[in-house]
Amino acid sequence: FASHGGSIKATLFPGDGIGPEIAESVKQIFDAVQVQVEWDIHFVGKTVDPKTGSFITWDSMESVRQCGIGLKGPMATPIGKGHKSLNLTLRKELGLYANVRPCLSIPGYKTRYDNVDLVTIRENTEGEYSGLEHQVVKGVVESLKIITRTASKRVAEYAFHYAKLHGRKRVSAIHKANIMKKTDGLFLQCCREVAEKYPDLVYEEVIIDNCCMMLVKNPGLFDVLCMPNLYGDIISDLCAGLIGGLGLTPSGNIGDNGLALMEAVHGTAPDIAGKNLANPTAILLSSVMMLQHLKMTEPADMIHKSILKTIAEGKYRTGDLGGSATCTDYTKALIDNLGK
Ligand code: ATP
Ligand code: MG
Repeated sequence: FASHGGSIKATLFPGDGIGPEIAESVKQIFDAVQVQVEWDIHFVGKTVDPKTGSFITWDSMESVRQCGIGLKGPMATPIGKGHKSLNLTLRKELGLYANVRPCLSIPGYKTRYDNVDLVTIRENTEGEYSGLEHQVVKGVVESLKIITRTASKRVAEYAFHYAKLHGRKRVSAIHKANIMKKTDGLFLQCCREVAEKYPDLVYEEVIIDNCCMMLVKNPGLFDVLCMPNLYGDIISDLCAGLIGGLGLTPSGNIGDNGLALMEAVHGTAPDIAGKNLANPTAILLSSVMMLQHLKMTEPADMIHKSILKTIAEGKYRTGDLGGSATCTDYTKALIDNLGK
């Protein structure tokens, strides 16, 4: 990672809507903890950059490539034709092949389950989302699901690497290979091959429909889940719901050579933007993931503990968690709780 006078340089995309407010919260907490990170701040452009074909500029892309690490707020997709979606641009340009979402119950914030502690790892580049759809004849359309050995191996390698690094015990490959014998079959085959290299981790294969039932009945049954694109899209949202929803769920997008772009999973929340009502927890937890990825465990733990403590105390919670604290009140409470 690029360092600068002892600090690590990281790209920050505040994004749109509530993005700048929640990004400000991250900046304040990083300052309070004196985290050795220097932000290179980039906004989404106002015109299409011909080099990226999107509103995200080439300069911004270069920043992430050079820093190798970044944090992203939600981005509004500009309406109109002739440009690529922002998320697609990021994913393609930066080769972000895996999406990682840790879902951890927040003590004190009551949801249906208290014991959720799982991580979904989703293949992010192919499968049903390859964008290959066409009409065969009138009234018949076709969509191609592409599964490659390269992409499946890559995401499986990452899932097992992540599991080992984070002291996890089990990796479950989620599939429907009983019906999609070739595509999901290849995905499973790749997971199995990687599993052999990790004898200390328990490996299992779970059919997607059964997985859904098990997750809603007892999420404690799972640890790390590794999935092709479509299943991952659905299951990762299901898991976010298990711990209390959008305002609390962080995520990471992983590319080659350790490149990582972390982001909150929620959108721009236009209904509350600019009103100081947003919950910055998801992006803060994403920044914690970023620090963990940089192996800056100490500040990561400090921020994480302060978030858990503040929410558990319940005095300062934002509206989405049933409280009446503003984003700035909550941020102040987090800073007060650092190291306590
Ligand atoms: P986008 O088009 O950018 O996806 P959206 O209209 O789909 O935006 P989301 O951002 O996905 O909206 O949010 C859905 C709901 O959840 C909204 O009512 C929003 O206010 C709320 N919400 C989302 N994120 C947060 C947050 N961080 N804090 C508080 N409320 C949030
Ligand atoms: Mg949305």
